[in-house]
Amino acid sequence: MTDPEAPRIEIVTIGSELLRGDTIDTNGAWLGRALLDMGIAVARRVTVADDNDAIRDAVEAALHRTGAVLCTGGLGPTTDDLTRDVVADLFDMPLQRNEPVLDAIRRRFDDMGVVMPEINVRQAMVPAGARVLDNRNGTAPGLLLEDDRGLAILLPGVPGELYPLFNESVAPLLRERWAGRLPPIRRALLRTTGAGESRVMEEVADLIEAVRPVDIAFLPHTTGVDVRLSVRGDAGEDDVLEAAARRFQDRLHRWVYTTEELDLAECVGASLRRQRRFLVLAESCTGGLIAKRVTDIPGSSAWFATGWVTYANDAKIRDLGVGAADLERFGAVSEIVARQMASGARRRSGAACAIAVTGIAGPGGASADKPLGTVWIATDVNGDVTARSYRFSGSREQVRERAAQAALRLLQQRLDAPAGSRSWND
Ligand code: ATP
Ligand code: MG
Repeated sequence: MTDPEAPRIEIVTIGSELLRGDTIDTNGAWLGRALLDMGIAVARRVTVADDNDAIRDAVEAALHRTGAVLCTGGLGPTTDDLTRDVVADLFDMPLQRNEPVLDAIRRRFDDMGVVMPEINVRQAMVPAGARVLDNRNGTAPGLLLEDDRGLAILLPGVPGELYPLFNESVAPLLRERWAGRLPPIRRALLRTTGAGESRVMEEVADLIEAVRPVDIAFLPHTTGVDVRLSVRGDAGEDDVLEAAARRFQDRLHRWVYTTEELDLAECVGASLRRQRRFLVLAESCTGGLIAKRVTDIPGSSAWFATGWVTYANDAKIRDLGVGAADLERFGAVSEIVARQMASGARRRSGAACAIAVTGIAGPGGASADKPLGTVWIATDVNGDVTARSYRFSGSREQVRERAAQAALRLLQQRLDAPAGSRSWND
């Protein structure tokens, strides 16, 4: 669906560490998506070393091909940061010290109670005639240079500086520049968990063609698959998008945990808050991973009470009241232990809801009847305990992440199930 009229741009990510593989070029990927989201086609993306000729060649060639280039990295104060100098030279715009930029950099250091090192003056050097793009989160501002060959935008390499700078300065600027050539894009999202990418795709295979012109993208993560729907066009396309999203939702509802940009833990938190219930956790296997996700959310103390990380059998017995005989007979990774962990945690904390996890994350600990990735998850909601076993694939880390996600999903399904229904136990 490449539109011949769509504006085109090239991305140049700069840094020897990117070529060495020490740093993954996440800036390139992020910018690619952000630009495409705006309806701007990324014609090419290259990565070059911190090297004068390499940077110059890449920027010059990009300008020649598309007349627009976006660079990241190499705006730092050290001598291996060359981007500003090279591109200033290419545009024949001599560097000049920019006092407002220098003041801003100085203020940043003052705020941290540090005297500005002299080398940071380099970052206040601005090519004559370039536009300065304020960087709220770092010292080096973004720069925009333009002549009859086209437009070069230079952005810092640090992702935490790049993203806001792009969103706040670059995106509005490009929208204005290419006004009328960027069709608005409408989007919908279904976040799923519990099925792999191929399973999700299989379920909706026939819909992908049927919902055109709505475009479908599957974005798999360790803990689930996001399905993104998008359509180009103005407000008239709202109905088309909504209808397509509904058809996907009908097929995928077993796995969809939200249609918003939310983490599953946030969704569970919202349900608990609404129901004025508190959550308590008993984690073996996940070792506090669920607690981490829950407490990552600001204000989670309004619905999260406490948690136990019980690894040793003794701890499960002492802290959660798991039966020693049951542990002996069925093992720590068993339905009965998961149930006892959940109900013990709930009763001892006085909370309304508990999640318990016990499993084999690997690489050791597996047996013939309990293979690697076997995980029992139990939930207790007001004394009603349910448990389910899973078999997760992947590395130790992946098994743990998947177990945490499944546990949150299990509770979400119970909390959000219509009264009397047991559909959460599919
Ligand atoms: P600063 O002004 O903060 O020094 P900079 O523009 O000079 O930023 P670099 O020095 O090239 O940027 O990179 C700073 C950090 O940003 C690097 O340590 C690296 O971790 C990260 N970084 C740089 N380029 C990329 C990239 N393409 N993708 C992801 N991270 C990157
Ligand atoms: Mg660098």
